[in-house]
Amino acid sequence: MTTVLSQVRALIERLAPEPICDDCITQRLGLSVRQHANHKTRELAGMNGFERQIGPCALCGSQKKVIRAKGR
Ligand SMILES: [Zn+2]
Repeated sequence: MTTVLSQVRALIERLAPEPICDDCITQRLGLSVRQHANHKTRELAGMNGFERQIGPCALCGSQKKVIRAKGR
């Protein structure tokens, strides 16, 4: 079973080391408001290997809260 969380995680890992914002994650994966990426990225940010920061998103270029997978 593919959960939203694992889809979000796979997307972030694919873009690593580039950061991506919640809005682009939501758009890329076609998430509904209820599944909003914000909850998922906060969940991932609490895990090893991910960090959340304010910075330019690699996809839309906006300065906002982004998440990226740390270098492996
Ligand atoms: Zn973005």
